[in-house]
Amino acid sequence: MLRLIFFGPPGAGKGTQAERVAKDRRIAHISTGDMLRAELRGATPLGLAAKAYMDRGELVPDDVIIGMVKERIAKPDCQNGYLFDGFPRTVAQADALLAITPIDRVINIDVPFERLVARISGRRMCDSCGAAYHVSTYDKGDCRCGGQLYHRDDDRPETVENRLRVYEQSTAPLVAYFADKGLLATVNGDARINEVEAEIAGILPA
Ligand code: AMP
Repeated sequence: MLRLIFFGPPGAGKGTQAERVAKDRRIAHISTGDMLRAELRGATPLGLAAKAYMDRGELVPDDVIIGMVKERIAKPDCQNGYLFDGFPRTVAQADALLAITPIDRVINIDVPFERLVARISGRRMCDSCGAAYHVSTYDKGDCRCGGQLYHRDDDRPETVENRLRVYEQSTAPLVAYFADKGLLATVNGDARINEVEAEIAGILPA
């Protein structure tokens, strides 16, 4: 059983690294952002309720997110463990998570703040598997999985600034929170994808 959190600001590369580690370690990749986008596409009540927050770059209320995660980790594909990507984002979410499951490690992907806007605004995402690409290194319209790439509405500059502000205010305090619990390991996210992956592999339990 391996239970991880991939932590960092929007654009740090959490999703890219999470996908690789989850595949390699055969654990479930739980991205609350991907789950919310799937709810939105399905026009479910949860998706419709979350949309206004997401469009503004605000956080979806804690009780909605916590309920969604509780249900998710009870699914059979979580038996070997799981990796959270984009969750928890508030102290209340972290408290709720630790009350239902222990966590083995929090990987904090560190990228200088001034690099994030460029990384996010050039990002294109797959509408099928959720993989992320950057226009500077990949200029095709479709994903390797066959899905279509699109520019997320909330990756546009007007919203990105707010998302970064929300991160600083509500989510960044979790760095000290997890450090205090002895769970935090910080890696340099301002490097090539494979280099970041290697640094993470060196930290994770065998
Ligand atoms: P992400 O794909 O992780 O950047 O998430 C996209 C958007 O979904 C965020 O800007 C929030 O509006 C919402 N969201 C995703 N995860 C959470 C979370 N753990 N708590 C609150 N809102 C979230």
